[in-house]
Amino acid sequence: MNRRSFIRAGVLGGVAVMSSPLINAIQGGVTNGEKRSGDESSADKIVVGRASRMVMRFFPYELQLRHAFNLAKYSRTTTPDVQVEIDYEGVTGFGEASMPPYLGESVESVMRFLSQVDLGRFSDPFQIEEIHKYMDGIAPGNNAAKAAVDIALHDLTGKLMGQPWHKIWGLDASLAPATSFTIGIDTPEVVRQKVAEAAPYKVLKVKMGLDNDKELVETIRGCRPDVPICVDANQGWNDRERALEMCHWLAERGCLFVEQPMAKENLDDAAWLTERSPLPIIADEAVKRLADVLPLKGAYDGINIKLMKSCGMHEAYQMAVLARALGMKVMLGCMTETSCAVSAAAQLAPLAEYADLDGNLLIANDRFDGMKIVNGKVTLDPTKPGIGVDLI
Ligand code: MG
Repeated sequence: MNRRSFIRAGVLGGVAVMSSPLINAIQGGVTNGEKRSGDESSADKIVVGRASRMVMRFFPYELQLRHAFNLAKYSRTTTPDVQVEIDYEGVTGFGEASMPPYLGESVESVMRFLSQVDLGRFSDPFQIEEIHKYMDGIAPGNNAAKAAVDIALHDLTGKLMGQPWHKIWGLDASLAPATSFTIGIDTPEVVRQKVAEAAPYKVLKVKMGLDNDKELVETIRGCRPDVPICVDANQGWNDRERALEMCHWLAERGCLFVEQPMAKENLDDAAWLTERSPLPIIADEAVKRLADVLPLKGAYDGINIKLMKSCGMHEAYQMAVLARALGMKVMLGCMTETSCAVSAAAQLAPLAEYADLDGNLLIANDRFDGMKIVNGKVTLDPTKPGIGVDLI
């Protein structure tokens, strides 16, 4: 706990302290005053908890994207994000909620949810299972907000134990896979340039769903004839015959797997396709939390676990273990996030066949130094406790 937060927690123990811009944010209006990025002043942070126990702070932190994120219908240059810090006995754990617009959470909803979480009622941060039950009791959904608390608790408890979570879980860091790097939809010249810049990455990923899907794959293949390509259809292929045809076409061009080819609700067609496809079919939008995994057995070959969907590391670990026990493949994904949430997800990488952990590379204002990609591979530092990050 730093001096300022110690004084605040000590003087104001047990109460939530909100500055007026943040009260505005919680009540529904995001003001210019708190849409900060890179401003580390704690003057605007909300503090909840008792001085002698856990004290939580949180504040909005808008992520600035290095390149505009282009989808078929819109383009964006920022991602809303809320940073969380939990103090306990002089140690701070860091967490984060990232809210890409299509997932339905926002700075307002996350701030509102976190304002209701009183960690002061728990005696120590190791009560992660109980804290999740308590958070689920406050409100359903709010997965990114719950993930932020969960990640900060894991960082905190790992630091208290002096070990990174991959070691606490008994995982072999050398088994972590290569991460893919996403090549966005663009003109062939720009795609060729992006592929050249992505030379350090051993696996590339493309998002499909536009008319020029095949052209994108052909352009990448023309630049790097042997690179494995992961394909994310983002529920874009609504006809299962067409989806199967695309799977064959992609298999002939050295693609690795296809993520979420059809609408998430459509389990029967997913099962039909999985039975026939030459490539593994991975669920993304169709799976969020632990309870979603078992019903997908038989309909998909694997699941894409993301901390912002799974409410953090606690259920993500359980999902990975369950999927493997069911004979399903595990993929680890992320949103555009700082190195905080990406490094937290990376702790699970030895359990995954595939990793798509490039979210921190897409932003220009990372707050943390964390997980590294070395020769294209997710590389965990065994000497960094918790989730393995340092504030920059
Ligand atoms: Mg996806």
